[in-house]
Amino acid sequence: MSSGNAAWWERAQAVIPGGVNSPVRAFKAVPGDPLFFESANRGHFRDENGKSYIDFCQSWGPMILGHNDPDVREAILSAAGEGLSFGAPSRREVLLAETFLSMVPIFERVRFVNSGTEAVMSAIRLARGATGRDLILKFEGCYHGHADHLLVEAGSGLATFGNPSSAGVPEDFSRHTAVLPLDDEEALTAFFAEHGDRCAALIIEPVPANAGLLLQRQEFLDTCRRLTSESGALLIFDEVISGFRVGSGGAAALYGIKPDLATYGKIIGGGLPVGAYAGSEKLMANIAPLGPVYQAGTLSGNPLAMAAGLATLTKIGAPGFYQALDGKASTLAVGIEDAIEAAGIDACLQRCASLFWIAFQSEAPRAFAAINPDGPKRFASFHAGMLAEGVYLAPSGYEVGFLASTHSDADIAATIAAATRVLTTLTEETA
Ligand SMILES: *Cc1c(COP(=O)(O)O)cnc(C)c1O
Repeated sequence: MSSGNAAWWERAQAVIPGGVNSPVRAFKAVPGDPLFFESANRGHFRDENGKSYIDFCQSWGPMILGHNDPDVREAILSAAGEGLSFGAPSRREVLLAETFLSMVPIFERVRFVNSGTEAVMSAIRLARGATGRDLILKFEGCYHGHADHLLVEAGSGLATFGNPSSAGVPEDFSRHTAVLPLDDEEALTAFFAEHGDRCAALIIEPVPANAGLLLQRQEFLDTCRRLTSESGALLIFDEVISGFRVGSGGAAALYGIKPDLATYGKIIGGGLPVGAYAGSEKLMANIAPLGPVYQAGTLSGNPLAMAAGLATLTKIGAPGFYQALDGKASTLAVGIEDAIEAAGIDACLQRCASLFWIAFQSEAPRAFAAINPDGPKRFASFHAGMLAEGVYLAPSGYEVGFLASTHSDADIAATIAAATRVLTTLTEETA
């Protein structure tokens, strides 16, 4: 039977809807067909054609240590030697919870689930159960996983109540979700004046990283905290990307804001399926078996997943880890900024710690509506050019890049050199 990327892609499409188990992987927003990953190590992967690439997707963020970290792998193998799943309490759940709370000391209790989506879904249910209110406020451009009530896009005009952004989501559900633009204190203040007393929670990615990188002003996040406190609504930080990425304390520590609840995923599982939500002892006491808010999981706290998370958090908790990663990210950012300038192209580089994004416009957007709609099209050409150079970026102009601690200086230099060549061809294209 034939192998190689093209052959696998053909077979995949014959058995899996669209050939993928998560839509962005299908390369619909960039030229060409998806690559099939054969294996990955540190900052690199090899595809089924035997070609190697520098990987800046890193499984969409979990692999902050790079692929196939030997300590994480060893921890998983060692756990596997003791059994694959128990469906009963086991010590690695406690160890990961203790490690988590020592790194995120603003919280007192943490519950593990199996994905970021599940973490957000559970946190929202908890917020509704604890406040006795139904209404949720989210922001345009923030992604919180694919739970029904969060697959909602901004209503048109003055109507802040959302429309389903996916078929299969009843309008009755989206009626309970309001959507506002980011970066707009005036809209936020007006919303809380009118609806604050029936709002269960405001949920936000404090470092919005799912529609480019829409870095928020401190004052905007402070206003989210103040208005939720004043109205008895809970503030939920969705830290599924930013948790353990922008620093060990996540965005909450970066901005010095204590949310009532926060959700985690990606890095906390070290590459295995883990999500988590955390809060105060009092708030988390609303969850079953202590309280009336039901949430459960057959595989939750799985020993292999807990082992991977524990090994990852232990490594990133070492002194100097984030400083070293930030140094690499800064070198990459400066190199790409220079490449943008040399190419004379309308673009700017956005960065928060080891997250980066190229906005194909002269001024960095802070809200979804401020993103140049042509930007993602220009990114498509950039993506194809970088791929030909052996550099893999997430296949959409709305996705950010992720640096790993095992990207070498040579990887970064090669990436800057490639970006310099590719950005120049973009200038020629538009000339
Ligand atoms: C990835 C992501 C999710 C969903 O996590 P899954 O593990 O894909 O379900 C939720 N919120 C944010 C901010 C994310 O980036």
